[in-house]
Amino acid sequence: MHLSQLLVITGFAHLVAEELRRDVCIVGGGASGTHAAVSLIDQNKTVIVIDREDRLGGNTHTWTDPHTGRLVDIGVVVFQPKQVVFDFFSKFDLPLLNLSSIQWNEPGQPANISQPAAIYNTLRIDTDFRDGSNVTRTAWPDVGAALGRMAEALAQYDYVLEGYELPDPVPEDLYMPFGAFVDKYNFSDAFPLVYQVSQGMGDLLHVPTIFAIKYFNLGDLQALSQGYLTHARGNNSDIYAKAGEFIGSENILFRSSVVATNRKNTTDGRLEFLISTRDEGLKLLSCKQAVLAVPPHLANLRGWDLTDEEHGVFSQYITSNGYWTGLVKGVGMNQTVSHYNAAGETPYNIPVLPALYALAPVGTIDDVWWIKFGANNPTLTDGQVQDYVVRQIQTLQRAVNAPVTEPEWLIFQSHTPFHLQASPQAIKNGFFRDLTALQGGLGGKMFYTGAAFHTHYSTYLWQYNRDVLIPKMSR
Ligand SMILES: Cc1cc2nc3c(=O)[nH]c(=O)nc-3n(C[C@H](O)[C@H](O)[C@H](O)COP(=O)(O)OP(=O)(O)OC[C@H]3O[C@@H](n4cnc5c(N)ncnc54)[C@H](O)[C@@H]3O)c2cc1C
Repeated sequence: MHLSQLLVITGFAHLVAEELRRDVCIVGGGASGTHAAVSLIDQNKTVIVIDREDRLGGNTHTWTDPHTGRLVDIGVVVFQPKQVVFDFFSKFDLPLLNLSSIQWNEPGQPANISQPAAIYNTLRIDTDFRDGSNVTRTAWPDVGAALGRMAEALAQYDYVLEGYELPDPVPEDLYMPFGAFVDKYNFSDAFPLVYQVSQGMGDLLHVPTIFAIKYFNLGDLQALSQGYLTHARGNNSDIYAKAGEFIGSENILFRSSVVATNRKNTTDGRLEFLISTRDEGLKLLSCKQAVLAVPPHLANLRGWDLTDEEHGVFSQYITSNGYWTGLVKGVGMNQTVSHYNAAGETPYNIPVLPALYALAPVGTIDDVWWIKFGANNPTLTDGQVQDYVVRQIQTLQRAVNAPVTEPEWLIFQSHTPFHLQASPQAIKNGFFRDLTALQGGLGGKMFYTGAAFHTHYSTYLWQYNRDVLIPKMSR
């Protein structure tokens, strides 16, 4: 018998020395879980947040150079100029910078070290990372007009920016392959730009359109003209450090994971979570409500007493992408040039994955380079990805006659599995109807947030918490 089944029958209480009682248990302290915790505290609720890492923020990760103290955001870099972003930053008195309001360096000139690392313009060379050959990209001259046509097409479906409440029947546009949607609405000239911004989306031409247009969305089209926001000192993790102080260390269990849950059979109607903490052993959490804020694929929910409805929905995630980021030192190539991965024979010259999307210098720290590696599925191990990266860097070094080196890893982070996806048929059959119907399950006690319930965008997740999750929890 599985441990969780045994524990449901016997009850948890005798296994642990400490029981922590709160209004809300939040599993996952990334962009959505942390914001939800702060919002609930603002409503005078008591919370506890569980995360397997030793920091809040999830995909938001800032690296500090030990020699210069300079910062590099290797995960989340930009936010859209929405009120919820201004509100969250101002709550913690943190400074925002509008990227369209600053003086960017001329490509080919050195970086301005007083600006965030993300703000560095380089020259661009398109290279096939498989062999180091230069790629002459097909010209797409009509980008501005194509973006206009894209905006018109997306405006028909502006409700996707609020969540996954879709019409019934689901419009075919939303589950057709995104490449077909691009052709249908005649915005091919914009696709190379959309692809570049949609890193982590794997085989973008073939993902169901709803995922693509929630990722690079109407808000992006506005932000391209109005300017994206970033932390003024290039330290997006700051928001999570401040949020952590606000939530309080006594209300956060780091390096912790769920061993078992008992949400259906407790005598007092509360939800119980048996948590394994790396430093303090087992703890029992008892809450009136719970928020699941981790990627809800079944492998990540072992030990949960899933309802039939939860199992029915989460088992329909058939695939996801691979996405890894990091920084390496010691590439020894020209630091005013970024190499973008491209291929001569593919539609829109998109790179053949799995591969680096680009090899780009950080600019603000000598010989430090961004690593952003994508795959159409999550199967590669971290070690395999690191091997790929080094081999591709060496291919580029040979191609430009630079010395071949073994670059040093400064930091490496896996975001895999990234972007859980259901099939077009499942979407047509009401997958998202069933997903959203989970909110408020178990008699108004169980709630969900995070990328799977909306999109991979901090801005929109915070908006979803504010407009959907928190109001539903308060009913
Ligand atoms: C490289 C990269 C760049 C990005 N850039 C941007 C950007 O510029 N702007 C933007 O808005 N968005 C960006 N995103 C997307 C953004 O990161 C996501 O939208 C957002 O992080 C998703 O939030 P979330 O809360 O769903 O998940 P996450 O932020 O991933 O949080 C999930 C949390 O749950 C924890 N966790 C997972 N499983 C378990 C478990 N079993 N037990 C305990 N804890 C668990 C994780 O440690 C993590 O802290 C980027 C993403 C990546 C990967």
